[in-house]
Amino acid sequence: MALRVEAWTVELPLLEPFRISTGTSEKTRTLLIRLTTPDGLEGWGEACPSKTVLGETLEDLVEAVRKIKILEADYESIEKIHELTWSLKVPSSLAAAINIGLLDLYARSKGSPLWRLLGGYRDSIQTDISIGIMEPYEQAKRALEFVEKGFRILKLKLGLEPEKDVERVKRVRDAVGEGVKIRVDANQGWSVEDAIRVISRIASYEVELVEQPTRWDDFEGLRKIRRESPVPIALDESVKTARDAIKAIEYEAADIINIKLMKTKGITGALRVAYISESANIRNMIGCYGETRLGITAHIHLAQAIRNIQFYDMDCDLLTSQQAFQGGASIENDIRSVGEEPGLGKLVPEFSKFVRII
Ligand code: MG
Repeated sequence: MALRVEAWTVELPLLEPFRISTGTSEKTRTLLIRLTTPDGLEGWGEACPSKTVLGETLEDLVEAVRKIKILEADYESIEKIHELTWSLKVPSSLAAAINIGLLDLYARSKGSPLWRLLGGYRDSIQTDISIGIMEPYEQAKRALEFVEKGFRILKLKLGLEPEKDVERVKRVRDAVGEGVKIRVDANQGWSVEDAIRVISRIASYEVELVEQPTRWDDFEGLRKIRRESPVPIALDESVKTARDAIKAIEYEAADIINIKLMKTKGITGALRVAYISESANIRNMIGCYGETRLGITAHIHLAQAIRNIQFYDMDCDLLTSQQAFQGGASIENDIRSVGEEPGLGKLVPEFSKFVRII
């Protein structure tokens, strides 16, 4: 079937600059696509590029999507959607957008919410909220503000200064007290030795998990860290696809694998990572880059569908000062849900904020 492809870019400012060990961002920039069938059914998808993890820029996506315009695709089978997605010679995040758009069409054509068709395991999730790298007292202040807003899981970005990182976690724990979960993400920033030292010290502040302590490609180092660590180790940058998940299992380098739809070329690739992880007794986390409400909604459909996805970092649309869509995943305190509408649900585009590409 010939599907019409339209694409737009959108830029949304962040509430405040977000600093992680590999850089600072002040806005999110993503590509939105709409697929329309000959009889007028619409499916939406989103591509949010990550230069550091996937080596993709928004400009790469714009160039690639301009060549598509008409997509020959069958959206009546999840397996055929997977097959088509992985046959496309396009950047991973653009493949993800197309995969999400086709699955939106699939679920709309069935009159069912996507999460129910993919597994239908839970009807809501509890998200964390991320706090970028700041001075320890500032990070503690921000942590307290988020707890007062109803968040009960904090994700602290670390990885630039090992000594100060210990102080960051201590200050945050002192500020929020017991009963609030703290997870940390070093975004590859520590050496193996620093990681082992820092983790052994922050463990006493009840850290739930440590994400990507050292370089993505140092599987030997990650195995060593995990052996020494009293805290579960989650891999993000190290595991993009199902093949990488197998490698992490072989190296015994992970307790948790963080799934992101841009890394797995969308939802069907993510299912493979989840099932492989589950088979090796590794639980999954689900995270995001800088997706808008649309992309986050797609992630939460997957999170609600699959039993093995048990840690939720579904906050990037909560960190922007504007929205690209109204509707989609709801938030109440820290509980998010995508509801019972067909497809990805009711998402109303704010076209005035979009720049049309095709
Ligand atoms: Mg991460």
